[in-house]
Amino acid sequence: MSSPMEISLQNPPDAELCKPNGVSQTEPSPFSPVEKVLVSVEVCLKPSSTARIADVQTAVERMLEKRSLTYTDGPVPVPIDDPFLLENVKRIRICDTDECLENHEILLFWQVKPVVHVFQLNEEGPGEELSGDELLSSFNEWVLPAKEFDGMWESLIYETGLKKRLLQYAASALLFTEKGVDPCLVSWNRIVLLHGPPGTGKTSLCKALAQKLSIRFSSRYSQCQLIEVNAHSLFSKWFSESGKLVAKLFQKIQEMVEEESNLVFVLIDEVESLAAARQAALSGSEPSDSIRVVNALLTQMDRLKSWPNVIILTTSNITTAIDIAFVDRADIKAYVGPPTLQARYEILRSCFQELLRTGILSSQEHDQLILLSYASLREKLNAVEAQAPLGPLFLSKLLLEAAEVCEGLSGRALRKLPFLAHAASTSPYNCDASKFLSSLIETAKRELSEL
Ligand code: ADP
Repeated sequence: MSSPMEISLQNPPDAELCKPNGVSQTEPSPFSPVEKVLVSVEVCLKPSSTARIADVQTAVERMLEKRSLTYTDGPVPVPIDDPFLLENVKRIRICDTDECLENHEILLFWQVKPVVHVFQLNEEGPGEELSGDELLSSFNEWVLPAKEFDGMWESLIYETGLKKRLLQYAASALLFTEKGVDPCLVSWNRIVLLHGPPGTGKTSLCKALAQKLSIRFSSRYSQCQLIEVNAHSLFSKWFSESGKLVAKLFQKIQEMVEEESNLVFVLIDEVESLAAARQAALSGSEPSDSIRVVNALLTQMDRLKSWPNVIILTTSNITTAIDIAFVDRADIKAYVGPPTLQARYEILRSCFQELLRTGILSSQEHDQLILLSYASLREKLNAVEAQAPLGPLFLSKLLLEAAEVCEGLSGRALRKLPFLAHAASTSPYNCDASKFLSSLIETAKRELSEL
């Protein structure tokens, strides 16, 4: 078996890995071939749309050709003079360019080959196919791309390049399988393990990754499902029944993967509880049934591995090396650490922008409501003019102070912080942005003191 790849989500990757090959900012010579950068453009259809995917794809490609602008992450307005797109398309979004580019780089239209992915969100919510037996609260099932996970990928903030690398590893694994690469000659698995402290977004990242892949591979796989298994709940509830339930669940997954146009993601959360259960059973503090459950799970995973259209995503809250048989099976192991200063700033900035958008926060002086990105703020603060009064930088500077204070808080805690600060505010219906930030800093200090 190949040794697992360890990706540290803390250390930026080799910059060359992400850099668009051969891209220069000057106009190309008409005689030299330009290596274009592939940029994903995601097109979400309206729930009411019945248009053919291929027609929408062609229409968007044509529209992008005419657009002749730069490519940066974010929405592209649906042109008002295109009734077909207006009727069918909910939104168009350029994705993941920020994961490839370094500061100040921009992608001009002639450097880019847009890859258009058209999809419609499934609005049915988690499936209840397993109802009728005790499986229900241990397993959840979604048809992807699902409405619940819309925007989740974008909302997760890590170091530059990290999400892209994860996406590329998973995409390569699917491609190798699809092309029939002989596993005796080149070995790889489709098992991903994300490990790190609680609240760092591991489970969300797995779900968001599944959602992304379902969109990116929609032309190859017409159906896509995510099954979420909470390993912990398997052991806490049904010691004697668990073995049978695991077998039953994997039987169901097996049926799904037998359909080759299905892409199936199996998310097993908190896998460390497998090791804990095994340990407890060996020491006699838990029924030996749990050993059988762990073994059943591992055996079933080994069986599933041989299917080309399944990806197993797992998470663990254990931060040190996890020494279980299971880990050996993971091909991609990635450590997801607490958010860095930049990530903390960007997480808080996104919270703040949401509160501004919804009118919960406001300011008497409108120009104070500018919140710069971390990179722009750093650049401005380093510049000579920074000696001058802060002016419109005021709010961003205060946000940076808040992000600095929040060192040690998880992403989950950070996303709750603005709510807690608001709840503690004396004037909840008329919240001034800068006062709110000061109260956020106080709330963060209090939260940290209680850790
Ligand atoms: P874990 O599985 O590591 O315990 P979760 O996936 O349950 O973490 O994270 C809970 C929530 O915390 C996420 O849905 C997200 O809102 C927030 N969160 C955690 N880490 C981040 C991050 N790096 N960027 C943005 N949000 C984050």
